[in-house]
Order: sequence, then structure tokens, then C-alpha cells
Amino acid sequence: MAITKVWIEEGCIVCNACETTCPEVFHVTEDTCMILPDVRQDGKETENREEQSALKADFQEELADQIEEAAEGCPVEVIKYE
Ligand code: SF4
Repeated sequence: MAITKVWIEEGCIVCNACETTCPEVFHVTEDTCMILPDVRQDGKETENREEQSALKADFQEELADQIEEAAEGCPVEVIKYE
């Protein structure tokens, strides 16, 4: 199933697991995790919690399994998607 949007809720513990699973989408910084600009329609690099920018159409199917896997692997369950 396609994923149209992914974002990070508050509480990321910067464990790096999501970036290891899906480096195309997630970039872990010193204090949180960003959704990378290349896969977003708005081209910003943020947690996408406020922007709620959609993924670019090309990636919605292509990266869905990896995003789901990353969300399942997040120890504090802050990766959310639709
Ligand atoms: S897996 Fe979860 S806690 Fe770990 S860096 Fe990614 S968003 Fe943060």
C-alpha cells in the first residue's frame, strides 16, 4: 500500500535505526530526525510534523515498505505515516 505522508512526532531519541533502514527518507541529526527534502513535495528538511508535506508521487509506492519497516523499528514509535 502506498504511503502519502510521513512525519516525526516529539520524542525521538536519535537512535539512528530509521536512517539505517531507509536512508532515502530519514536523516538523524544531533537532537531529532528529519524527513529529507528530496522525497517531499515542499522540498524542506524538517520533522514534517507541522508542514505535513506529502511525499513526491514517485516515492509513495517505492518507499512504502521501507518507511513502514522504519516505523515498526522505532523504539519510541514517533514515526507516523498515512
Ligand atoms: S528510529 Fe525513531 S527514535 Fe530512532 S532516530 Fe529514528 S525517529 Fe528517532
